[in-house]
Parts: sequence; C-alpha cells; structure tokens
Amino acid sequence: ATASSGVRRRTATHCPYCSLQCGISLVAGGRPATLEPLEHFPTNRGGLCAKGWTAAELLDHPDRLLTPLLRSVPGDRSSAFRPATWDEALDAIAAAVSTAQHRYGRDAVGIFGGGGLTNEKAYALGKFARVALRTSAIDYNGRFCMSSAATAANRAFGIDRGMPFPVQDIAEARVVLLVGSNPADTMPPVMQWFDQGRAAGAQHIVIDPRRTSTAAGAALHLQPRPGTDLALANGLLHLAVAEKLVDERYVAARTTGFAAARDAARPYWPDRVERITGVPVADLRRTVRMLAEAPSAMVLTARGAEQHSNGTDTAQAWINLALALGLPGRFASGYATVTGQGNGQGGREHGQKSDQLPGYRRLDDPAARAHVAAVWGIDPAELPMPGVSAFEMLDRLGTDGGVRALFVLASNVVVSAPDANRVARRLAALDFLVVSDLFLSETAQRADVVLPTAQWAEESGTMTNFEGRVIRRRQALPPPDGVLDDLQMLCRLAERLGRGEYFSDDPRTVFDELRRASAGGIADYAGITYERIDAEQGVFWPCPAESHPGTPRLFTERFATPDGRARFLPVRYRPPAEAVDAEYPVTLTTGRLLNQYQSGTQTRRLGGTMVPDPTVQLHPDLARRSGIGADDVVEVRTRRGASVFRAQLSDAIRADTVFVPFHWGGASNANALIEPRLDPSSRMPEFKACAARLRRIGAP
Ligand code: SF4
Repeated sequence: ATASSGVRRRTATHCPYCSLQCGISLVAGGRPATLEPLEHFPTNRGGLCAKGWTAAELLDHPDRLLTPLLRSVPGDRSSAFRPATWDEALDAIAAAVSTAQHRYGRDAVGIFGGGGLTNEKAYALGKFARVALRTSAIDYNGRFCMSSAATAANRAFGIDRGMPFPVQDIAEARVVLLVGSNPADTMPPVMQWFDQGRAAGAQHIVIDPRRTSTAAGAALHLQPRPGTDLALANGLLHLAVAEKLVDERYVAARTTGFAAARDAARPYWPDRVERITGVPVADLRRTVRMLAEAPSAMVLTARGAEQHSNGTDTAQAWINLALALGLPGRFASGYATVTGQGNGQGGREHGQKSDQLPGYRRLDDPAARAHVAAVWGIDPAELPMPGVSAFEMLDRLGTDGGVRALFVLASNVVVSAPDANRVARRLAALDFLVVSDLFLSETAQRADVVLPTAQWAEESGTMTNFEGRVIRRRQALPPPDGVLDDLQMLCRLAERLGRGEYFSDDPRTVFDELRRASAGGIADYAGITYERIDAEQGVFWPCPAESHPGTPRLFTERFATPDGRARFLPVRYRPPAEAVDAEYPVTLTTGRLLNQYQSGTQTRRLGGTMVPDPTVQLHPDLARRSGIGADDVVEVRTRRGASVFRAQLSDAIRADTVFVPFHWGGASNANALIEPRLDPSSRMPEFKACAARLRRIGAP
C-alpha cells in the first residue's frame, strides 16, 4: 500500500505509541502526511490523544536519521560521526561480531530489543540472536515494563495476556479498581469506556500515591505509600475473609490453593495495613465491599503496582483478591494489567526475551526447542539456552563473561534503564555498540555505528495491543532514501554472517513463519492471517486455526493451567528495597506525563506545548519544610546520583513522597536516581520507590 508521489491516499493504520493502538487514517503521497482518527476502530472509536494527533510530525522531522553513521576514527567514540553507506556500516558490524565472538565466545554479542517493535521484528530479532549470532544474550525493555504482571499471570492463570477481555468490557463493569494506573494521562481515549460505565452508574476506585487525573474522577481514591500495595491487597483479602465476602462456590469450583493464600493474609489486620500503607481502615472496608457486592468488578494493575522488587508477588496479591471474590472469567469482571508500550503484549510473546521462544514457549523446554528448531530448519542442539535478564545483561557489559558487542533496537537505555548513569558507564566499557533508531537518541550518541530505521507509517507488520488483539500496521509511504526497515537490515547482516538463507525481509513471509512457530504454544497465532485482521478489525489470540474465531474473552470455562483451575499463591509483604532514613527522608516515585512517551526520543522532539519542563511534584508541606518554593530549581538526590527539576507544588501528592517524570535524559534523568534492585522472579527493577532528599539550588 505504498503511496505514489503526488497522489494523496488514505491508509488505515495505528498510532505509533501506546498499547491502546488507536486506529488512524493516514493521508500520504507527497509529504507532509496528515492523519485523523478512525471513527470505527473498536478501541478508540474516533478518539486520539495529543501524541496520536501529532504522530505524523515524526515522519519528516528535521532530526530524522537518514543515513548510517560511523565514527570518523574507528574505535574512538569521542571522534565525530560521519555518514556512511549501508555496506560500510553492515561490514563494520559483521567484523565486530566476528571479533568479539572469536575472542570471547558466542555470548559476547548481545541484543537489547524493544516493546515497540512489530511482532515480525520481535520474532526476527529472537531468531537472529539464536540462529545468526547463536548467542544466549538477548532481552528487551519490556523486562522493565510488564514482566512482573506477566510472571504472576503465568503462574496464576497459566497464560499472560494483559487483558483477558476486550476493552469495551470496562464500560460494563459496575466497579473498576485501578492500582498504580493513570490512563487519563497515559492513554486518554480509553477513558471513554470508563466514562460510559460511570454514566451507567459504575463506580471507580483508584489506588495511587498521587491524586492523578484518573483518581480525581473516581468515587474513591486510596493514597498509599509507594511500594506498599502488596500489604494493601493482602489486607483486602483479610477483610474479604473476615466479612464473609469470599465467593466460596467459585473458589471451590475454579481455583486451587486458597487456604494457603488466606492464611498468608491472616496477619494483615486492617489497623496494621493502615500503619503500613497509610490508607484509613474505613477506606479498606469500603473498597472490599464495593468490589464484592458489585454484579461485575475488575481489578486493573499497571506499573505503579508492578515495578517493584516485590512486583510479581504484588500482582499475585491482587490476583488472589480477584479470585477470592470470584471475578476472573465472569462477564465484565476479572484481573488485568494495562500494558504500556505499543507492542508491549506481542513484543513479549515471540522470542526477544532471554528465556523464550515464539508462541510464549520456554527456551529450556525440550519439546518447544524441537518444535521451533523444525520451523527454523536447524538442529535443536544449535539453540542456545536462556541468558540473563535485561538489567543483568546491561550491568555486565564489557566484563568477563559479559557482552562485548551490543545491538540496541527501539530502546534508549541511557534514559530508560534503572541507575541509568551506571548503565551509561557500562556501555562505555563495550568493545562495540550498534544502535538502530529514528533519531540520535542519548544511547545512539554513544554508539560506534548508528543505523537509521523506518518508522510506523513506513512499515508493514502486526502489533498486539493490550487486549491481545492482533492488528496490522500498514505501510502508507516508503521510508526516506537511505533508511532501511529493521527486517531488511537483519537480513543483510545475516547474509554477512553466513546465515542469510534463514531470514526474509518480507513482513508477510515472516508473519506466516511466526504463525507456524507459535502454533500449539500459549500465544498461538496459527489461525491469524493478514486478511482476517483486515476483515475483522483484529483477531484475538489464542487462535489455533483459520476456522477458529479467536478468543476475545479468556477463562470463561477454564484457566490455561493443566487442571483448568486458577492458582492462589501465598504472598507476604516486603517493603521497598531501600527505606527512607534521616539522610534520604522522602520516597521518590516516577511515572509518565500527558503528551510524553517513554524516554522521550520521539515526543521530546514535538513542538508547541507538547513538551513541558521536567518538574518534581511535591506537597506544599514538604516544600515548606525543605525551603523550596514554586518553580524553584531543585536537586533530587539519591544514593545513585542527582538530577535537577523545577518544583511543582501540589497537594495531590502525599507529603512524604515526590514524583518525577522519566521522559528526560541529561541533567533531568529520573532513572539515574533509581535503585535497580530486581524482583527475584520477573527480574523487574524497583522503578517506583527509593529514598531521596531535596535541595533548592536556584530561584524560578
Ligand atoms: Fe496513540 Fe495511545 Fe494516544 Fe491512542 S492513546 S493516540 S494509541 S498514544
């Protein structure tokens, strides 16, 4: 569907940003392209947020990379970049791969992928690592995003699909509990479903240390200390048991392990939970009653609850509560996690995780290895075993046993990784760094080779949105001269590594292979075709055959566990890894702003009012105690480092907590402050709570 020059034509595609994947009609053919929302696409029904409305600005942005870049002095990353041909750049990469693997072994070459890549690219990247590089060193930025909820859902339900129901079910739920989720700012068009429910009498409860835009519209707002959600959820389970609100018939018929989870929640007396969380007992009682007495109720968690060193157990605690109340599998009810990145769902299903093969198969499972190896036409013994998780890979760069030559695609780890300055130092220790991106991101600025890549409206492929709906990203115009799609780049590189025959640069061919590789797996795409996606406005996985209708609603009859029952698991509260003390007396938490997206590589380049100053939000009482006034320049310091923000005084935040957005690098890098302690199961770092102190360093 490439637009021919001068002829304006419309292409139905999707916004390049978040996991709602709003339908967009792009008018292209001769630049600049323009866009408008698709009126009838079922997730956004004509809505777009400011990010979506301005997405076409990225296509012709003057900062766009239009040629590969190499260092003018090879090996010297302080030397200037110079434009290079693709042959020069790919030859340099192939030589660096060969050198690193010859000196240090296959695992000395690593890949760091992204949750914004299409399914085809994520799949090809996992295959490229295992077949072309034969390295175990691959992981991606979704490890910093979704991994705790995904791990918990796999344990409890036997499957990880962020929302096990379509988004329109939100409008049917009579009570919705949102934990650490602020969709009014992060994906505004989704609020139409919440608003529709509210207009029909639904009530919403928000749990967040800040009175966010979402919390401001809720019937009830619980404002806990960051990192205490597990105690809160266990306290609600305790109350559900004490007040005889447990759905005993559901628990007996559809679950296992309730007694152990109930016993683990027994010590969470309401007054103890109030002491841990700061949430009044009366609000705890009201919350559990609202959830238990509603004919339909949902518990939705997001990063605020999940990005902790106890994130998996926290998600499990919310699942335990939902199961005790008999919610999962009931109409317009259940537990779900609200994915963040555009392909946060599909990006974690098809092999760019360190422990995973396509179809959400385990890399250490002999049957999975045999199946995927057969699809790829290799011997299963050639497949590496699982490697380490994202932060562990980054933290060992350039060390004995660590990666020496790294590829980064669709990620800006110098801004987005925890303890970001430490990660920047590790990147500097690499023998070779390649970054593929649209712009010269903070990470690309440190590379030996930068590769310019095609972006959303210039490529074809599929994405899987937060509902598990597989949709098509359709090409509306060709990439600029000099820019290659990542599939093309991987093919050319595979040829140089002697494995070219295993790879295709045609998205449809790659998707058809992905379908075969995923067949019989948890995330089964076997029955999904491009034609069906076009005809049905997306198809929900699992979809094991072309005659299968897809699965918009999971768990209506059984869960995806061997015995068909959901699993309660006993979980106990652990406080955040770093406690506040006299030296660092306030809790720092981080998050997103309206109009900005992730590390800001794209959205910080948008004009007008889209880009505010980076601010630290703090309560007026804390500001007074700290000698800080509105708009003062404030240094926020933790044990990792210091960053600088403008003070934004607001009584919407707890007086013991400060909030900074994570969209900036350089002097205002929020993630440079973050304690990278990992969740033992998901390997999720603790992004959402650490100890900090404040200092006024300048006037407005
Ligand atoms: Fe794009 Fe998400 Fe905004 Fe929709 S809500 S326009 S998908 S950023």
